[in-house]
Amino acid sequence: MKTYNHLFGPVPSRRYGLSLGVDLAAPKTCTLDCIFCQLGATPRTTLTRTDSPPMDAILAELRHWLARTETEKKERLDFVTAAGSGEPTLHLRFGDLFRFARAEMPGRSLLLSNGSLFYLPEVRRDAALADVVKLSLHAWDQASFERISRPHPLLRFDAILDGYRAFRQSFVGRLDLEVFIIPGINDRDDQAQRIAALARSFAPDTITLNTAVRPPADSTVTACPPERLRALNALFGTAVRESGTVPTRAAGELSGEALIALIERHPMALSALATTFGHSESDLRAFVEPLARQGRLRLFESQGTLFVGGIGTSSDPADH
Ligand code: SF4
Repeated sequence: MKTYNHLFGPVPSRRYGLSLGVDLAAPKTCTLDCIFCQLGATPRTTLTRTDSPPMDAILAELRHWLARTETEKKERLDFVTAAGSGEPTLHLRFGDLFRFARAEMPGRSLLLSNGSLFYLPEVRRDAALADVVKLSLHAWDQASFERISRPHPLLRFDAILDGYRAFRQSFVGRLDLEVFIIPGINDRDDQAQRIAALARSFAPDTITLNTAVRPPADSTVTACPPERLRALNALFGTAVRESGTVPTRAAGELSGEALIALIERHPMALSALATTFGHSESDLRAFVEPLARQGRLRLFESQGTLFVGGIGTSSDPADH
């Protein structure tokens, strides 16, 4: 079995289903050095965009994966995801990955970016080739940006936000936003309101609040308690685009269509679904049981864990 240098997975993810990851950044190459980063400290922030690792080598691995992977497995793929050990838009040719994905790959394409280079028109142009783009916003001004993300000295918070607004104007795909909540740093109501107001100015389709679950770069960063996250969810829920088709975890609203879309090809543990939608397990269970009775999804147990799956999916989560 071939070991790939630039591909990982496919791996199941809570938000994006089954994802084949493409690592576009050598460890750890980033424009930022976030205090909450779970990859450890950035040795030296950079704004220099390069063709490293070589895009031709990455595309060769994708061609190999396509040629050697069974059709059934390929058809299960939800996303080809540009991600990895740093900021993928630092790769000068990341747009070529999305061109290739559009022409050759099953599933949709996804860019996970910290957004710091979106002030560059060429980055926005290539990012728009992805089907789904996830950006980040944890701060409300230059000072809070510097405190939380310890950016490269030339990065300007306002220019990045202008880039987000320009991108929203032209991007026809789904725009997701992630806000990392750090107790004592950006979790006060007034701070969260300022971030939400900025989010409102470019109206993402979804907002997800995240908090530390693995050891962060700065050991003083702690996890935001679930009850505080729930309170903030309501505050951020007003910032999403009304026409968005995917309900937000931040909005705290459950929609049968969104839930079924998430699990119809890959079952998820009930507990993971509850986290995804920002509800308690008991609330989530009360919501899915009537859908199961209506025959719109299935509830089943595997190895002591309760799963929610689509009508046509296997009961064995190891298959997915
Ligand atoms: S942008 Fe992402 S990879 Fe870069 S330092 Fe921040 S959390 Fe880590």
